[in-house]
Amino acid sequence: MNLRIPGPTPCPEDVLLAGAQQMIDHRGPEFADIIARVHSGLQTIFATKNDVAILTSSGTGAMEAAIVNTLSPGDRVMNVSIGVFGDRFGQIAEAYGAEVVKMSVEHGTPADPDAIGAALAGDPSIKAVLVTHNETSTGVTNDIGAISKAVRAHDRLLLVDAISSVGCIPVATDAWDLDVVVTGSQKGFMVPPGLAFAAVGPRAREAAKTATMPRFYFDFEKHFSYFQQGQTPWTPAVSVMFSLDLAVQKLLADGMESVYTKHAKIASDVRAGVKALGLELLVQDEAYASNTVTAVKVPEGVELSKLRGLMRTDHNVVMAGGQGPLSNSIFRIGHMGYITEDDVADVMDSLADVLPRVGFPVAV
Ligand SMILES: *Cc1c(COP(=O)(O)O)cnc(C)c1O
Repeated sequence: MNLRIPGPTPCPEDVLLAGAQQMIDHRGPEFADIIARVHSGLQTIFATKNDVAILTSSGTGAMEAAIVNTLSPGDRVMNVSIGVFGDRFGQIAEAYGAEVVKMSVEHGTPADPDAIGAALAGDPSIKAVLVTHNETSTGVTNDIGAISKAVRAHDRLLLVDAISSVGCIPVATDAWDLDVVVTGSQKGFMVPPGLAFAAVGPRAREAAKTATMPRFYFDFEKHFSYFQQGQTPWTPAVSVMFSLDLAVQKLLADGMESVYTKHAKIASDVRAGVKALGLELLVQDEAYASNTVTAVKVPEGVELSKLRGLMRTDHNVVMAGGQGPLSNSIFRIGHMGYITEDDVADVMDSLADVLPRVGFPVAV
């Protein structure tokens, strides 16, 4: 199956088999070796010297952790949202009692760093900014470097959901001076779901000392203190750790620069391919088009469920539909992690066969 959804993503066979090893003592020396190796690899991939908490949860758990460790009920936070996952970040903060000030951006476009700076200048009580790096629901990548400059100029915390970018699109955690950056194992890492990671900077750790949102399972300081003994505070997803250990070594062996270049090339092939078929991208300025997921407008008169159904039954290609307000108006092609040029060609050939059968004559 050519699984082209934006997570979980396909995994290399050796990574899957690594997960099939017998259990070990998660408080023993073998596991301590794995944690040390994985942690150092994660620091390279996140481009950071910060500690990276390894949580057993999906990515959303790490988003929740970023919030409950740094904020208190009643804190004002700015939720910059360019899509469904941006909205989710704000919903979590709200669930824990934050006062959420929303900056919603038209779907298909990125957030404007100057607008964020201006909003912060006008609202000194905002304590933190919650933003998505790569919005998986629209296929748009925010300029986090520029957003960070705007946030730093006003000295607020910046919490970043980089779940669908880390390991595929450069995330310069330290160079961009980001406070918390989170991701999950099932997107760019080519690993099954089950683990999430949070790179936590010094300002966030300082904020944690006085933050009063309730937390236990996701308490960062508990995780970092157990790291000292080569452990996690609670039983981790041991099998996923086995897989992650190998996947991280594979990423490092390829070199992150080459991994980023590969994703840029594949993404540009995907965009060129869908346009050659006569389809339209959702993203309005291709400079912000995501290198991990491409959102394509469903052509007038085409039934999305029929299109996706035939791609699946006749070609074994599984694409994602839209989410939220875009549910029926876009489909999405995931291209993060373990993907080859052949996989992209297969999607395009399959679309060329299926589109005319659902009422859209292709251009080629
Ligand atoms: C996948 C994704 C999430 C949610 O992660 P889960 O692992 O499903 O909890 C959040 N944000 C972004 C940008 C994502 O791509």
